[in-house]
Formats: sequence, structure tokens, C-alpha cells
Amino acid sequence: MEQQKINSKKFGDMPVEDFRKHGHEMIEWIADYLENIEQYPVFPNIYPGEIKNKIPLHPPVKGESIENIFSDFEKIIVPGTTHWNHPGFMAYFNSSASTPGILAELLSAALNANGMIWKTSPSATELELASLNWLRQMLGLNDKFMGIIYDTASISSMHAIAAAREQLKEYQFKEKGMTGRKDVPRLRLYASEHAHSSIDKGALTLGIGIEGIRKIPVNKEFKMIPTDLTKAINEDRKNGWCPFCVVATVGTTSTTSIDPVDKIADICERENIWLHVDGAHGGSAAIIPEMQWILKGTERADSFLVNPHKWLFHPVDITAFYTRKPDVLKRAFSLVADYLKTSEAKVDNYMDYGIQLGRRFRALKLWFVIRYFGVEGLRERLRYHLYLGKEFTKWIDEHPNFERMAPVPMSTICFRLHPKNINAEKELEELNLRFFNELDTSGDIMISHTRLNDKYVLRVNMSGLRMELKHIEKAWEIIRTKGEATLMKV
Ligand SMILES: *Cc1c(COP(=O)(O)O)cnc(C)c1O
Repeated sequence: MEQQKINSKKFGDMPVEDFRKHGHEMIEWIADYLENIEQYPVFPNIYPGEIKNKIPLHPPVKGESIENIFSDFEKIIVPGTTHWNHPGFMAYFNSSASTPGILAELLSAALNANGMIWKTSPSATELELASLNWLRQMLGLNDKFMGIIYDTASISSMHAIAAAREQLKEYQFKEKGMTGRKDVPRLRLYASEHAHSSIDKGALTLGIGIEGIRKIPVNKEFKMIPTDLTKAINEDRKNGWCPFCVVATVGTTSTTSIDPVDKIADICERENIWLHVDGAHGGSAAIIPEMQWILKGTERADSFLVNPHKWLFHPVDITAFYTRKPDVLKRAFSLVADYLKTSEAKVDNYMDYGIQLGRRFRALKLWFVIRYFGVEGLRERLRYHLYLGKEFTKWIDEHPNFERMAPVPMSTICFRLHPKNINAEKELEELNLRFFNELDTSGDIMISHTRLNDKYVLRVNMSGLRMELKHIEKAWEIIRTKGEATLMKV
């Protein structure tokens, strides 16, 4: 058969001159978007399925122009976006993207570096070590901790639990697995009633089972009660369980309560149990010298995590995970295929520390963001958020129709409507459900809700990069007037 001559010009990427043009346009768009972020509704006014219905059912057979694609991005995608960068975004834990972080993401995509082993991108591996070392110092942790970047806190905690399991060397879980064996006890993990659901999910993934997760009660300030932890461990040992992991939280998801890590570390040391500290949101506050006490005891933990994509202004996703026992974590995951074996014995290959082989170059944004703001600049921004939290707390406390539902150790406030003339819990619940629905449709602010001591409560968080006092004042104005309006209808 005669070979056809192939015009190679037809293949390959977008012409570089087109890329240059569209690249400039999109940076302009991003700058305008962030500059005018307040003109967007925080939460889009749409119904489920609306966006999907606007996307053709079948992929285009022929290529389309970037102009067309971008025009649909503006027409379809942006109106269906919840704007996490909006200063009225007070729900969950804020995650706001700083522009140095955005630029680093762009460069990271361009380099397309895959940090599976040192050789596949020396910079990715070495910058990960170096920038995590910076962050570790900022948090006041000692150099016994080795840092690893994973995508999320959920995945990081799963790795911590896997390492905790691997620490029970005598049972050879790596070699023999957990099922069908009569020679191993059932494992038990402990976390407070207020620990994040990702801890449960991590345990479930690893075959611990729901019954293998024991929730420890909290005190009035929503902190784990250490004596109850000791009691639970003793009781479990008596009944044949094998306690293997305790998870303490620094900044719980509902109230940012801080478990007494120091006391919990005493127990874990005595009992020889892996201690993992989840500081996904709250851990970041430890970069402020006067807040460093929140990590007291964490220097004795086996592992710890913090999410720069929460309170350190990184675009999602990046979690900084630290462990004092990297050898145990490595033992849990290292399985080196022959084609990946390297001769560079002195360097760490990050693929050996987790389930992922391919790894994004996330350290680049950590390096950009820390350098751009500086340690002092980041501290000042977090201090400002703590101040905003104090202001909002004051307004809630001073208003006769509002009730604060938890202490405010950081900048997250739990509250509800509670006028003097209503005291039945059922009525308060209905009232606050109605109130939340009113607020949910405002478009100017977005808040969330949670449950504390079986009471339905509203919750705001102040940790967005673009939040200023005027935004908090406006948010309070909306909350106060909608609250009063809800009461008028009672
Ligand atoms: C947000 C949060 C998580 C989950 O974080 P992801 O990175 O989304 O997995 C876990 N723990 C705590 C305490 C959190 O606040």
C-alpha cells in the first residue's frame, strides 16, 4: 500500500499566536472578575439540572474556536458558579484564591510537571520538601516532621489512618490483609463527636468499619474529653479490641473548637497509639505567634495536616500533611514497580508515600503565595479575620433576639434566632429553619448551618481574603433585618 503523505501542520496544539492572544484576554477577564466580584450573587439563582441542560448531549465532532467556548463559559458556567472568592461568602470554611496562587496554578499547568518520582520532575519534588519546610516553621512545628502534599484533608487523613494501621507491625496487614483472619483483633479508632466526617470515610475505606470508629464525647466547649478517651480505650482493650488511632481536631468544622491535644498526646504515648491531628482550617491560625498555643501537644503527634486551600488563600486544592514517622507511612504504601526503581538513593520519591502515582505540582503555589505575602503579610490577614470574628460576635451577643451557640476561638460564629417569648425547642427549630431559608435566597451573603447539642444553628465564617469590615457590617445588617422580619411573621 502506498503511504499517504501526512500534513503534520494539521496536528499539534493551538497555534502559539492564538494562545498568546487568548491568554492575555483571559488574564484580563480574571482581573475584571476579581475586581468586580461583589457584583455577582454569591450563590447563583438557579435550579438543579439547569446548567447540565444547557450543555449539548453529544461532544462536537469538529473543533470549535476558543471565542465560542469562552462565550459559553461566560454565558453558562459563570452564572452557575458559587463564588467562593466573594466577600459575602461566609459558609463552611472559606477558600479564597489569591492571585499569586492563581498565577502559580497557570504555570504549573504549563510545565505539566508530574512529581511521581524525583526524576520525573526534580523541581516538583524538591520544592515540595523546601516549601513544606517553610510552612512547618511558620506553624511552629519542629524539624522532626516530614511534609507531603496531598490534594485534600480527607485523603491526608486516610493516609494517616493507613500509617496508624501499618504501625501494628505484628499483624502484617500489608502482606495478609484484614479479612478472613482469626489471628487479628478488631481495630478501633477514636475521634470526638465533632470530628470531620472525612475521618469516618478514611476509616471506612481502610476496612475499619463503622463499628471500628468510636466517638468520644465533648465538653460544653465542644472539645474532646480526655478522661472519656482513656475510659473508652480501657474498656475496649478489656473487650478484645485493638485501639490503634486517635484523631484530635484543631478547629472543628462546626465551631472551630480545639481538642486538648496535649492531654490526648499523653494518652496516646502511654497507650502507644498513633495520634493524628486534623487542623484543616484552624491549624493555619498557628502562624500567628499569639495563636501558636492551639498546636500545643501537636509536636508529639504522629501526623498533622493543614489546608492551605482553606485559610491561607490557595486555590483548591492543596493539603500540607506532616508526619514524624515517614518510614511507617512509606512502609504502608511503597510498592515499587521495576520501571520506577531509581538509583538516586538519596532522594525521596513522593509516590512511595501514598496511593497516587501521578502528582500535580502543588508546591509551586505554596511557594508563590508564601513569598508574595510573606509570613508577616499572612499573619496580618489572619489577625484581621480574628478581629472581624470578634466584631460579629459582639453584635450577636448584644442583640436581644439572637443567641450565640458556641464559644468563638477563631472567626467562626454559631448562633440562632431566639426571642425571649419563645422557648420551646421545636418552635425554635422551625423558626430558624425559616430564617435560614430567607437568608439563603438573598444572593448577597451565603452562610451555612449545623447542629449543636441537637439544636439547629446558623454559622458564619470569616476567613476570605477579600473580606473587610464593611462586608461583615453589611452581612450583619442583612442577618439582623431578615431575622427581625422572620420574627414579625411568627
Ligand atoms: C474542611 C475540613 C476537612 C475536609 O477537607 P477537604 O480538604 O475538603 O477534604 C477535614 N477536616 C476538617 C476539620 C475540616 O474543616
